[in-house]
Amino acid sequence: MAERAYFDWNATAPLRPEAKAAVVASLALTGNASSVHAEGRAARQAIEAARQNVAALVGAEAKNVTFTSGATEANMLALTPSLEVGGRKALRDKLFLSAIEHPSVRSRGRFPAGSVEELKVTNEGLLDLHALRSALARAERPLVSVMLANNETGVIQPIAEIAQIVHETNGILHVDAVQGAGRIDCDIATLGADLLSVSSHKLGGPQGIGALIRRGDVHIADPLIRGGGQERSLRAGTENVAAIAGFGAAAVAANAARQADALRMAALRDTLEARIKASTPQAVVFGANAPRLPNTSLISVPGIKAETAIIAFDLNGLAVSSGAACSSGRVQASHVLAAMGVDTDLARGAVRISLGWTTTESDVETLLTAWNTVISSLLKRHANAA
Ligand code: PMP
Repeated sequence: MAERAYFDWNATAPLRPEAKAAVVASLALTGNASSVHAEGRAARQAIEAARQNVAALVGAEAKNVTFTSGATEANMLALTPSLEVGGRKALRDKLFLSAIEHPSVRSRGRFPAGSVEELKVTNEGLLDLHALRSALARAERPLVSVMLANNETGVIQPIAEIAQIVHETNGILHVDAVQGAGRIDCDIATLGADLLSVSSHKLGGPQGIGALIRRGDVHIADPLIRGGGQERSLRAGTENVAAIAGFGAAAVAANAARQADALRMAALRDTLEARIKASTPQAVVFGANAPRLPNTSLISVPGIKAETAIIAFDLNGLAVSSGAACSSGRVQASHVLAAMGVDTDLARGAVRISLGWTTTESDVETLLTAWNTVISSLLKRHANAA
């Protein structure tokens, strides 16, 4: 098979060698981490070392990290009315979400349907802070959930400013930091987040493991999974030691390389966008005027459908994606682009190109060559059909 170039890092990243080594080493452990014998203690040690490393990724205390099966579960665990701050027991009466959240947040967790409201975003995909302020005035004890960076556009929200507004009104802030963790600064105190979700496989750890990280005085009174009391009774079930260890190793590697990788990826991404704009001037880059992740570019060419383009790119050796969910080969309308006021036809053409730490200049050249072939042939087809 011809060499392929992978540009779908926002869907998942390749396993880092450090993570693979940690997974393999942990698979050799025999014990159950809840057992008191030496074998059990070795498993416990692997988990607690990983907890320290995941905590360090976001500047949190290790005891406030709860391992889950991924960020979907972390989001479900966080989105509950039963949150207590500083020991005060009072149910959250409203959940406010930005209109561009991941489906796992949009599903509203454990809030009843009537208590949830979506907040609009600007044309650049940034949360409308006036909408946030007026929403907060309609609740006594709100929970607000806003993602750090969007998985489709890469647009980064001003979380620290949002946190300040939320905290002025007795609110709690949950931040889905899945796409930001390991790519941009994710310090929980700097962000001002009360709850933070992260996923291992976006930063080079194994799939099927993630974490919900809390600020010290936030307590979740109703765990999602009850049973044997693991994870301080917040998430029962024998721990997935190998996945947790892999996550911890990936967190260390991602953190160490973060700043250098971000600079390199941003330079490659900017070159890629500039050359695409030069060859296809009608191409639209979504969120281009907002702060964005260094690795993400969501681009549409009027007249082209994403599902056709993605298949053509795949046949040319490139893995790219539509930003929006894809089922049975058909790309669904993106709720993110709809919320940004993008015309439906243009949104249907959105192709997401996302880079990562192993992306090279030569990968970018491969992409640009394929871009010219694929886009010109699809544009010809479109012109003939018109
Ligand atoms: N939130 C965001 C922003 C995501 O991009 C994803 C993964 N696509 C998730 C949550 C879910 O993460 P996981 O795959 O670990 O369940």
